[in-house]
Amino acid sequence: MSVLTDKFGRAITDLRISITDRCNYKCVYCRTGNEGAVFGELPFADYLRMAQLLVGMGIRKVRITGGEPLLRNGVVNFVRDLSQLRDVGGDPLDIAITTNGHLLADMAQPLKSAGLNRVTVSMDAVDPERFARITRVSNGFDNVLAGIRAARRVGLWPVKVNCVLMRGFNEDQVIPFGMFAREEGVIVRFIEFMPLEEDRVWAPETVVTLDEILRRMAEYRPLVEIPHARSETARRYRFEDGIGEIGIIAPVSHPFCGHCSRIRITSDGKIRTCLFSIWDHDLHELMRRGASDEELRQFIHGVVQRKEERHHIGEPDFVPASRTMVHIGG
Ligand code: SAM
Repeated sequence: MSVLTDKFGRAITDLRISITDRCNYKCVYCRTGNEGAVFGELPFADYLRMAQLLVGMGIRKVRITGGEPLLRNGVVNFVRDLSQLRDVGGDPLDIAITTNGHLLADMAQPLKSAGLNRVTVSMDAVDPERFARITRVSNGFDNVLAGIRAARRVGLWPVKVNCVLMRGFNEDQVIPFGMFAREEGVIVRFIEFMPLEEDRVWAPETVVTLDEILRRMAEYRPLVEIPHARSETARRYRFEDGIGEIGIIAPVSHPFCGHCSRIRITSDGKIRTCLFSIWDHDLHELMRRGASDEELRQFIHGVVQRKEERHHIGEPDFVPASRTMVHIGG
């Protein structure tokens, strides 16, 4: 099968589809505390057609995201429909969801039965008060913990827990999350804070870097680096005694743009070739005007050729992305 390749020779094998840009959390590093405007949602049939085309063009991983994807009625059926695309590509298609976990406890089994392989749950503190301060939701912590445990129980393996560290909020959660990874049997991945938030509070000093995370974790237990695939965004480590794994995603201090294999579709049907793109490409508008599959494929090929070489975070010429994370789909 052909593989979609950009002009820098990067194979595009990883698709993220946002199915809503609504969210029930207001995490300080992502959203504003007010109700923000939304770009909107498409019928699932439209996302499915886009996914089908892209799987036929070499996509091997589809991640459903948002906003909060579990807010959307019909997400289980969407997973079931996506899992039918496994026959289109020929090779196994990996289907995952990124969620805040608030509604996951009751949905883990239906999602697994529908064909979901894996889940990533975002959780930024392991104590309820701190969690509430970051998410600006008072009753979330117990739900998320129950969601993580349900995901493990039903075999959505591996369960990854994403933690964005932001100075002044949760940099002291490094060791507690090391313990959590070991006790709960999940892979905790620390993510460096990127300038994609609605409140524009990012500054270099707010980023808790890979080096600092490693330094803090070393005070708890020694880590051993695990070799990782080039296309993997996370640097992986296991604790020396073999119990527990953590990862660190360091787009700010150790960018990995040279190995980026991703494109994204926003909830309103635009293709984005980079989180930091300053424009997006309206695939849905073409579909709405009745474009054939072949015309859509040509459009996608053209868009992929315009994928940015790298981001410019922290550089004098940095221009903020045209959308914030919640409206892109992380
Ligand atoms: N609502 C879902 C969730 O909470 O996982 C999916 C959408 S959320 C935008 C996807 C991921 O982006 C989450 O893991 C979140 O922590 C991360 N994220 C959001 N804003 C970020 C930022 N400014 N820098 C780094 N990661 C961010």
